[in-house]
Amino acid sequence: MDIKQTDKTYVADTYARFPVAIVSGKGSLLTDDEGKAYIDMGSGIAVNSFGIADDLWVQTVSAQLGKVQHTSNLYYTEPCAKLAKMLCERTGMKKVFFGNSGAEANECAIKVARKYAADTYGADRYTIVTLKNSFHGRTLTTLAATGQDHYHELFQPLTPGFVHAAANDMEELKAIAANTKVAAVMIECIQGEGGVVALDETYVKELRGFTEENGILLICDEVQTGNGRTGELYAYMNYGITPDIVTTAKGLGGGLPIGAALLGEKAANVLGHGDHGSTFGGNPAVCAGACSILERIDTDLLESVKQKSSLLKDIFASAEGIESVTGMGLMLGLKTTLPAEEVVKKCMDAGVLCLTAKDKVRLLPALNIPLDLLEKAGYIIKEAAKPEKN
Ligand SMILES: *Cc1c(COP(=O)(O)O)cnc(C)c1O
Repeated sequence: MDIKQTDKTYVADTYARFPVAIVSGKGSLLTDDEGKAYIDMGSGIAVNSFGIADDLWVQTVSAQLGKVQHTSNLYYTEPCAKLAKMLCERTGMKKVFFGNSGAEANECAIKVARKYAADTYGADRYTIVTLKNSFHGRTLTTLAATGQDHYHELFQPLTPGFVHAAANDMEELKAIAANTKVAAVMIECIQGEGGVVALDETYVKELRGFTEENGILLICDEVQTGNGRTGELYAYMNYGITPDIVTTAKGLGGGLPIGAALLGEKAANVLGHGDHGSTFGGNPAVCAGACSILERIDTDLLESVKQKSSLLKDIFASAEGIESVTGMGLMLGLKTTLPAEEVVKKCMDAGVLCLTAKDKVRLLPALNIPLDLLEKAGYIIKEAAKPEKN
């Protein structure tokens, strides 16, 4: 079969795919349909936390598939209960709602915030403040939450009740809160799709203090930054704060669809029977795999993520054509002199798969990428970023 042609004919044309058809892989190496090998510096957009076909994950998921692959949420299953317990123990959150994607995790957080504020203060307190340049998903409500106008234009009217504030601007946020009844503020500690931009520590700390004092819930969207990506289990842990709700997805499943809204003390008991649900949410095979991922994101692994981050930063420091490096851990953005797309194309030709985010080259390799592959990819990227002399 001609994979590319068949896909172009029959799959809805919503993705500008690279001209590569991946057929197999192992760890951080991928192979395309022409037998060409690549080092994977994107891990399926921060999804394959332990790379392709990780042995323990494959065994764990396969074993669960052979026992029971799905039950619906009318019954209890062990992997779902176990994963929720692990997530609560590792974060101090009290309860978890499982869905299948980042957008679904954020939808849950938004519903919880609205119901919490309505129950506590009255139905007119529903506004959710998110930040400009944020990304929270593709459903109509998470698009409304997303603070980038170009995502909104084609799909009016979006869900009402969202206001976008400039990042790192406490004064603007306070002014909004003074004029509008705010239920919650939702942030990405590091804006991912927005170009790998970390929020300032003083802003995040002040924001936590202000929301706490004013009975406003703070939601951290950790869909991309979560699950060890930044060198801490969740990115908010780098900031020394505790949010009221944490949403996560991408890397938690290690390659299968999962989304989770982790609900803290105030949010834990807001939703009751029938208030929310998801047919596949908490699927036992997916949750068993997620347990095998989360168990291995321990202190040693987090330390190795920080070391790998330093290794890459050292390679890129003072590299010709790399103007700045942003992000934390293994979530890095490179501002390059050449257009990011051109650098990514040159890397692809040289056997390294990278991503872009806004005008940056974005790197999100598997957390367990071997040092030799990481170093090799780092030098190939450095070379690709070098502007041609003429
Ligand atoms: C990817 C992403 C989402 C959306 O996740 P989906 O699984 O594609 O729905 C939401 N928020 C952030 C920060 C993301 O990076």
